[in-house]
Amino acid sequence: MTTLTFYGGVNEIGGNKILLEDKDTRIFLDFGKSFTRRKMYFEEFLNPRVANGIEDFLRMGLLQDIEGAYRDDLMAMSKKKIVPPNIDAVLLSHAHADHADYISFLHRRIPIYMGKTCHLILQAIEERSGSTLEREVLRYKERPIKSGSKTVERKIITFRTGDKFKIGSLDVEPIHVDHSIPGAYGFIIYTSEGTVVYTGDIRLHGTNPQMTIDFIDKAKSVKPIVLIAEGTRIADEERDESEAKVSTECKQISTSQR
Ligand SMILES: [Zn+2]
Repeated sequence: MTTLTFYGGVNEIGGNKILLEDKDTRIFLDFGKSFTRRKMYFEEFLNPRVANGIEDFLRMGLLQDIEGAYRDDLMAMSKKKIVPPNIDAVLLSHAHADHADYISFLHRRIPIYMGKTCHLILQAIEERSGSTLEREVLRYKERPIKSGSKTVERKIITFRTGDKFKIGSLDVEPIHVDHSIPGAYGFIIYTSEGTVVYTGDIRLHGTNPQMTIDFIDKAKSVKPIVLIAEGTRIADEERDESEAKVSTECKQISTSQR
């Protein structure tokens, strides 16, 4: 049987955490931070407590109680039962926080698949901003942090567009898409019951629409049984909007004021 469970990303922008189960294989499509939910309880100087592991995150619904998903160190701090990880992988579509950042809480042995450029961007973000509990996507220090705490490097597997790989009963094909950050991908996932297509975040009004068209063409050709699409602007009226137009108008304004 193949099932999809949405732990985030429905009726909100981002926060995507979509569990795809097929036979004995369990993967997440993205594992992002929900800005909408977080803003309901926290603000600049009011943050979830780190001292009790993931307790505040679970209580406030920023994370869901998913057995076999989270880090042993955080589970121990929250006085929760530690069980071996039972998620086979995360497919990360791109490096935006609302898709990537809550990977920080996941068990060290869960492999994270991402594009090569996405990996570079996450490395740059982590080098620049340092680590907080909510931004430990690539590596983290075991908590509670004390002298001699080990740094844990996550298992990262990178791909390029059109590469194909297998995770348990699933065959996966990432295809590049255009988005407001480089290194963004949609996924074609061949399950035992048919093909599932996940768009991640896409746009056609950006600087590289052809990349999104490549993805759409491929998605159309595999005749998916399920399409999971981002819908931030899906109900907007059509309007004359493109990054090329923004660029032209900015140039016009800046040159006319010389
Ligand atoms: Zn995005």
